[in-house]
Amino acid sequence: MKATILHTIFEIFATWSHHLPTVCSRGCSACCTQNVTITATEGEEILRFIISENLSLWFTEKLALQRRHRSAVMTNNDFAKACLEGREADSADSHDTAPCPFLEDTLCRIYPVRPFGCRLFTSTKKCSSTQPALVPDYYFEAATAVTQLIEHLGQREYWGNMLDVLPALLDINEFREIGAHLDQTLIIQSRMRTLSAKPLPGFLLSQENGGKVTALLETIFSTEVEGKRLEDVLNGR
Ligand code: SF4
Repeated sequence: MKATILHTIFEIFATWSHHLPTVCSRGCSACCTQNVTITATEGEEILRFIISENLSLWFTEKLALQRRHRSAVMTNNDFAKACLEGREADSADSHDTAPCPFLEDTLCRIYPVRPFGCRLFTSTKKCSSTQPALVPDYYFEAATAVTQLIEHLGQREYWGNMLDVLPALLDINEFREIGAHLDQTLIIQSRMRTLSAKPLPGFLLSQENGGKVTALLETIFSTEVEGKRLEDVLNGR
């Protein structure tokens, strides 16, 4: 059910953000870095795709060869909790602009199952390694709120840099056939670099943009999946 909820949230966000005048197009990949964080559910979707597309060898070679990335030091919900409690919070250590290993000739090889951390990337101005993406503040707040919801959905499971979470999941029976191609030490070390997804402590919404973001969140909460409102599912009811 978590995977179904995840895809429902992806679709609602894509519909909500459809009007944004973006300049992104096929083959522009400046935002495809090693700085993507994911939940275990998102990682499992990627690994199922790898198996269904017979990409296990390609995938494990990419994992084994990728240069040392920076692991996440704080989850989004930990960061939000610290901010809401007035504590100092700094998650900037996790930033890394090296190219994502799943890029092939400027195209994403796992595009159909890319995580929300990739889906949210867009820009209203052409970006590059020196020109950062440009989005309206309300979009940034909405994307952050949805990222927090997705973490809440995966609470107590792996959360972290995609290049840590994916190998960490390879000791699950369903994915052992992929893990067989990878050094077991890398799997163990990756597991140690992941964090645990946390429940939602509240959202970081500004007064100016809160209304727009709340409208999106209400759409998500009121949507039904398998006969249950998402608000009830996310609240464990
Ligand atoms: S997974 Fe795909 S979309 Fe995401 S950063 Fe890597 S290449 Fe880009």
